[in-house]
Amino acid sequence: MTHAPSADDRFAPSAAFAAKAHVTADQYQAMYNASIQDPERFWAEHGKRIDWIKPFTKVKSTSFAPGKIDIKWFEDGTLNVSANCIDRHLETRGDQTAIIWEPDDPKDAAQHITYKELHRRTCRMANILETMGVRRGDRVVIYLPMIPEAAYAMLACARIGAVHSIVFAGFSPDALGTRINGCDAKVVITADHAPRGGRSTPLKSNTDAALLHCKDSVKCLVVRRTGGQTSWADGRDFDYNEMAMEADDYCAPAEMGAEDPLFILYTSGSTGQPKGVVHSSGGYLAYAAMTHQYTFDYHDGDIFWCTADVGWVTGHSYIVYGPLANGATTIMFEGVPTYPDAGRFWEVCQKHKVNQFYTAPTALRALMAHGNGPVEKYDLSSIKVLGTVGEPINPEAWNWYNDVIGKGKCPIVDTWWQTETGGHLLTPLPGAIATKPGSATLPFFGVLPVILDPQTGVEITTTAAEGVLCIKDSWPGQMRTVYGDHERFEKTYFSDYKNYYFTGDGCRRDEDGYYWITGRVDDVINVSGHRMGTAEVESALVAHADVAEAAVVGYPHAIKGQGIYAYVTLMNGVEPSEDLRKDLVKWVRSEIGPIASPDLIQWAPGLPKTRSGKIMRRILRKIAENDHTTLGDISTLADPSVVDHLIEHRMNKV
Ligand code: ATP
Ligand code: MG
Repeated sequence: MTHAPSADDRFAPSAAFAAKAHVTADQYQAMYNASIQDPERFWAEHGKRIDWIKPFTKVKSTSFAPGKIDIKWFEDGTLNVSANCIDRHLETRGDQTAIIWEPDDPKDAAQHITYKELHRRTCRMANILETMGVRRGDRVVIYLPMIPEAAYAMLACARIGAVHSIVFAGFSPDALGTRINGCDAKVVITADHAPRGGRSTPLKSNTDAALLHCKDSVKCLVVRRTGGQTSWADGRDFDYNEMAMEADDYCAPAEMGAEDPLFILYTSGSTGQPKGVVHSSGGYLAYAAMTHQYTFDYHDGDIFWCTADVGWVTGHSYIVYGPLANGATTIMFEGVPTYPDAGRFWEVCQKHKVNQFYTAPTALRALMAHGNGPVEKYDLSSIKVLGTVGEPINPEAWNWYNDVIGKGKCPIVDTWWQTETGGHLLTPLPGAIATKPGSATLPFFGVLPVILDPQTGVEITTTAAEGVLCIKDSWPGQMRTVYGDHERFEKTYFSDYKNYYFTGDGCRRDEDGYYWITGRVDDVINVSGHRMGTAEVESALVAHADVAEAAVVGYPHAIKGQGIYAYVTLMNGVEPSEDLRKDLVKWVRSEIGPIASPDLIQWAPGLPKTRSGKIMRRILRKIAENDHTTLGDISTLADPSVVDHLIEHRMNKV
């Protein structure tokens, strides 16, 4: 058995990489210091990376003070987000590909959509929405597969000043209906069917079911994706493909205020009921564009691929808004990593000569379980930077990414951020910051992370520290409010620790000032008085050769207060046994120490995850506590049958 990779390994960018990078180590320090010492001046400069119709004169007006939570950036400037993502590129790169669309089935042809074509399509969609009665400030729900029309729809809303709220196409009619009503949407845009992983979801009939619980005035625009059968309600349903043939090729971009909302998006629902996050137009776009360029070291002509769905914030910021604002070529992938086989990601990387590849730890762990065979068939030499987001990445997965995918040559950017933050807050810049497997390293420009003592709320000022992660001051991409509920905004993010933005995550800062996310604050385990994050124990388990994935929670324990309950998914082909169970306990003891050794290990063929692939520990905790009659909000759960299996086989039969 190999020894677990050490989390203290360091990987510095090569001199060759650094020489071409936008930001080097020295520049990072200088720019970071400038951004903290004089944020007004720094952001006045970087706010100019987007085009303003009326330039801003005010840069930052933000307050985290109790009762006065108010966040405004560039507030007197005006702009149009879609013009920034399309029109301003037409002269210089009208014939360049803006979007490469890769369909679910690899046998179907990919599409290359130029900036000119994107302009035409977006304008037509905008005109259709106007015909349907959508006006500035109205809300539009988008419930589409990963097809180019999803990007056209987002940009069309931005063009006319409507606010979009995307609902992931895997969500149920109930979840869709709640979100349509939640923002009082005028229109919902959907497709007939959504092919994904060789299966098909009937989006239109889901929408029909959802609309039964919505106001009669809500209209529905239907994109033909498969041509499959759907029912039709005359007067309510509109045929996109037909209307697009008639619609005008030009729609003037509306002049919007920097603080006008661009979109509403719900958080993933890992820790409870999803929050309807509202993002601004100006600050959000500037921040998404800037982080896209620097974090991925994006250069003109590069092919950028973020594998997320546009239903998540990652898709908003790093498939659509950030890349397009930068005039990039961005890939939209309709499929899943394991269809038709576990080589799909790498096949697409080879086919489109991807330069920056950005995915989630959950996908990497799933692919690792299939071994290196599916990777070795493909030429990945175009890749320059690898990225990860969504959960702490276990050092084992990090090393696999580095060795097997990056061949030891591609910096890995472990980007920590949230729906609420709009863009990356903690992340290495690939030409500037040496990485350590499992650490999101250092703050992005303008970001002031602090670690507070969870009990007293006092800031820990020593370099090495552990506690809850808060942010001390605002950045342009920060959410502005919870839709329709500013009180909930204040209560969720600014009330536990006054005058700080509370992230909900636990964090450790090491001797080098590097940040390590230890897991959700709600998930912290307290064993005999020792507080422990879930990430470390899970990473130790995943480092074992037989383990594909692990999730750890606390459960009531008569002597220790809390015991450690581990759910373990084994590698493909490995059989569970009592010997293996003992071996895993021994392994964790030797990796971390006796305090972290699991009391109970349950074999889990699957773990409960959100649709964006995050482990829902709150459900696992309920099962471990034998309290599974009240699982809370499970509307964002990907596969409920996983939960039934775990309940049936739970270990703690008290
Ligand atoms: P909810 O807020 O509804 O419970 P959620 O927090 O999963 O759902 P997101 O905004 O999608 O919703 O996820 C943000 C969270 O994901 C972060 O707070 C953090 O816990 C986790 N996360 C994201 N990126 C990283 C990363 N690179 N390392 C560690 N954790 C990460
Ligand atoms: Mg969250």
